Amino acid sequence: MRGRWLGAVVGAALAAWPALAAAPPASSALPAQVDGARLRAADAEPGNWMSVGRTWDEQRFSPLRGIDTANVGRLGLAWYADLDTYRGVEGTPLVVDGVLYNTTPWNITSAYDAATGKRLWTYDPKVPPQFGRKACCDIVSRGLAAWKGKILIATLDGRLIALDARTGEPVWSVDTFAGEPPWSYTITGAPRVFDGKVLIGNGGAELGVRGYVTAYDADTGQKLWRFYTVPGDPSNGPDGAASDSVMPMAAKTWTGRWWEHGGGGTAWDSMVYDPKLKLIYIGVGNGSPWVQKFRSPGGGDNLFLASIVALKADTGEYVWHYQEVPGEQFDSTATQPMILADLDYGGRTVPVIMQAPKDGFFYVLDRRNGKLISAEPFVQTTWASRVDLKTGRPVETPEARYGETPVLLSPGAGGAHNFNPMSYSPQTGLVYFPAVQGFMTFAAAPSFTGGIGTAFAGHEALRKQQAEYADSHLKAWLVAWDPVRARAVWKVPYPRDGSGGTLVTAGGLVFQGTPDKTFAAYDARTGRKLWEAPVQSVPIAGPITYTVRGEQYVAVNAGWGGGLAHVQAAAFRDLKVAPGRLLVFKLGGAAKLPPQKPDDGFPPEPPYVRASEAEIARGGELYAKNCALCHAPLARGGVKDLRRMSPDTHAHFLDIVLGGARAKAGMASFADVLSKEDAEAIHNYLIARAREDWGEMRLKP
Ligand code: CA
Repeated sequence: MRGRWLGAVVGAALAAWPALAAAPPASSALPAQVDGARLRAADAEPGNWMSVGRTWDEQRFSPLRGIDTANVGRLGLAWYADLDTYRGVEGTPLVVDGVLYNTTPWNITSAYDAATGKRLWTYDPKVPPQFGRKACCDIVSRGLAAWKGKILIATLDGRLIALDARTGEPVWSVDTFAGEPPWSYTITGAPRVFDGKVLIGNGGAELGVRGYVTAYDADTGQKLWRFYTVPGDPSNGPDGAASDSVMPMAAKTWTGRWWEHGGGGTAWDSMVYDPKLKLIYIGVGNGSPWVQKFRSPGGGDNLFLASIVALKADTGEYVWHYQEVPGEQFDSTATQPMILADLDYGGRTVPVIMQAPKDGFFYVLDRRNGKLISAEPFVQTTWASRVDLKTGRPVETPEARYGETPVLLSPGAGGAHNFNPMSYSPQTGLVYFPAVQGFMTFAAAPSFTGGIGTAFAGHEALRKQQAEYADSHLKAWLVAWDPVRARAVWKVPYPRDGSGGTLVTAGGLVFQGTPDKTFAAYDARTGRKLWEAPVQSVPIAGPITYTVRGEQYVAVNAGWGGGLAHVQAAAFRDLKVAPGRLLVFKLGGAAKLPPQKPDDGFPPEPPYVRASEAEIARGGELYAKNCALCHAPLARGGVKDLRRMSPDTHAHFLDIVLGGARAKAGMASFADVLSKEDAEAIHNYLIARAREDWGEMRLKP
């Protein structure tokens, strides 16, 4: 039922949203006056949240203690804002001097009075809906930046835009994809501002791109330097980029004609700045295509895939790298959140960088030189038994170099930990993040025909067996990790994966959205749940906290979606969520969410199968190639479970798939790659799949 009115509601709401211009609160005549000195001393302004990780070390630790373990039970909703979307909301808001800035799917950006929720302005960059097809993991945005009266956003279609913080009107805009081949780049990450520069990367490694990050002048948008994360075609000579000096070294770790498919290595999320060392750390993503033999047939480490790379912040020149997964082929990325901290190793203080990436090991590196200090698994890892601390390399299992026979690997492509922000408390010495113990089937396609190079069909009996094992062995929890002793201190188990990013405060609290459609606070030392509120959706984003006129607030975006929703299968069949909302809490808050629409949880009965087996099989192949990335393999879930289509969606199937009838909801037209006969074959395949599973879907989990 959800899908039928989704497009109409979103479209109408956007059309009705004028670019409201209103005066900012009187307390701040000139909003978002954030400069280098203020960002550097962000800890001196605990009432503000001026960059995506609050401070440059991105610890997401707040010194505020107005809300604490003793009084958190009185926390209640102060205000909320409807975000008019059913897609994932992954953004971390900013708060500067009483104004809250937020970004939502399609990079629609709004400013609110942070105390009352009064909307001050909204800016819609009008991202072309076709980019919805290029974003592997939803049309999300993970955050924004503030700089000298401007709010900086990076849009899905590659623009870096500076908005006037008073009005939301654009001041300058640059195309960060300019000068590159017309590959399927997208941006979902938050821009980072440091020392007058703004840095942004991109995504797209599921569709064949070459990753890079670019620094621009934060005042003017003038391009300063670009660093490519993987080498290009050596016969073209240097790129004229900051990465030129290190690309010959990187190219020695590749074989074949990798540049034809881009190579991947997109830096789609995490970047952290150390002002003392003047280094910027880049988290680099997976290979493109996934299967190594198709991009580098002779093997090799394929630098800088799945690596943390340290660059000189001034020039973008290479300083050091640490590769977590050499020659990766599991969609393994080092793009997950990174935190800088000074850790005490028995009286010796070491400046470290920490990361809990998709691959399931928690890495601690000396951030001066990239030397590995520890790498212990935080979930079961079946691709590698351990990481050798002497060589810094993983000890792989045979399954890691999979061929055409499907293997079940943990973690899967969704990762043991994904984008969800993690936090570190200097008080407890613990790092807090959501962990997922999940398995996924990997198999190489017989030959490369585009996309990621894995096969979604073949060996059906084995696949079904593996899918059942994966479903029954999925575990998830909130973990508090001691990075010095390299072990979990406590865990809060969840009934399924999908819990959110974390915030930790000096009040001794860890805040997190849960897959039970609640927002919860835990004792940072013990993991005891101290408070929980139903919020009708799963807040997957990172919470923040701030003060206005001395009163402390906690804010989080609650909008279920993102990459996990794309690949998720049976576990979420009964997760009915409300549209995305920005939720803001305070002690004694008494606001109420409107009641959620009732839903009996029963899928409508699918039509009867009227196609031949050959037609259904052809539809299945087309589905695997064109649809599975968002709607999940075998149509078992995804961003919308296509086994649950309403009669109305069945009736308009071709209008949607070919006509783009739901483009604004994220489902752009596929008329450029699918014929009417193709779309009908896919429809018949989906009807057959729905019939096959209908009985099972009617059961409560
Ligand atoms: Ca990826």
